[in-house]
Amino acid sequence: MSRSAPIYLDYQATTPLDPDVRAAMLPFLEDRFGNPHSEHALGWDAAEAVEDARRAVAELIGAAPGEIIVTGGATEANNLSLLGAAKRTKRRHILVSAIEHKSVLAPAQALAELGLKVETIPVQADGIVDLERLPQLIGPDTALVSVMAANNEIGTLQPLQEIGALCAEAGALFHTDAAQLVGKLPIDVAATGIDLLSLSAHKFYGPKGIGALYLAADVRPQIAPIIHGGGQQHGMRAGTLAPMLCAGIAAAAGKALVQQAKDAAHTEFLKSRLLSRLKEGLPALKVNGSETRSLSGCLNICIPGIDAHALLMTLQTELAASVGSACNAGLIEPSYVLGSIGLTPAEASASLRLGFGRFTTIDDIDKATTLICEKADRLSHIRAAA
Ligand code: PMP
Repeated sequence: MSRSAPIYLDYQATTPLDPDVRAAMLPFLEDRFGNPHSEHALGWDAAEAVEDARRAVAELIGAAPGEIIVTGGATEANNLSLLGAAKRTKRRHILVSAIEHKSVLAPAQALAELGLKVETIPVQADGIVDLERLPQLIGPDTALVSVMAANNEIGTLQPLQEIGALCAEAGALFHTDAAQLVGKLPIDVAATGIDLLSLSAHKFYGPKGIGALYLAADVRPQIAPIIHGGGQQHGMRAGTLAPMLCAGIAAAAGKALVQQAKDAAHTEFLKSRLLSRLKEGLPALKVNGSETRSLSGCLNICIPGIDAHALLMTLQTELAASVGSACNAGLIEPSYVLGSIGLTPAEASASLRLGFGRFTTIDDIDKATTLICEKADRLSHIRAAA
């Protein structure tokens, strides 16, 4: 990245492409241009990239390659899970947590418009789903429960094992949107009782525009496709796959498998340094969500009395970070995630998300801390004088 680029602390929005991933993708922009679904040598060559993608993603999450459906990202995988399950079941009830990404909430809303009963599982002040409430909500008519593995705004990690057990007991499918978790922390789908899992390559140093749905082998008959066409991927998701992107997700998943523990140690160190330095400079600062059960590369903070959007706008040439989630950017409305954990609209608009990872340096963290503390101090003086 060029020297003049702002310090990048927005790893939940997207991660930089790993140079090894880039190198694995490049041949597919040149002579490996075949259609992976063609029956000839060039096609078979391209199909290898697709198979590599399935194999590497499967290995990363403890699945079998045949259980991986390649998609355009986690958004598509989430839509396929919810809409695909609703098409095949007679059950008419869907449960989603209050802090799901919009790519889960929107298809759930679409199902509600078709007459399904969609209910929300509340979360506690730390952002973790209310496990006492869930057994009261789940029932014999529940088709599917969708609870994300890690939240994209506050990083909270959910008790997937417990939720999986409750779903199995009720005969409901358990879907988890793991876009923010995969490649950062180990996950074993079978051991966790997950039926469907969504992921996106660009959240773990891979390219944008590709992701996957893990669909447990015994669950496949319960999910109908949502994209129909040439019958690719056993009819589960039609359309010519992009071998370049497949090579990218394969390389990113392969690298995550060997590097995620090292990355996690790095981000844990950076997070504790960032937090202790910010607290020194800004004693009123509060951490949103759970300080302990959260992604080590994500820190969401509230600086009381500060307009976080104004702060980041004045720092835009020096620091790239986010208020709320990037998918809501442009719409300056208080984050529903922060609202769900009990923040007032004023507290939510005083909150910002700092995300960091494999390529973040100690220097980045120290410089960002200084910038945030100085600017917050100046903005609070301006506010006090006004
Ligand atoms: N779920 C979560 C939790 C996310 O953070 C994102 C990306 N913001 C998505 C789903 C959607 O991923 P994509 O845009 O790659 O489809």
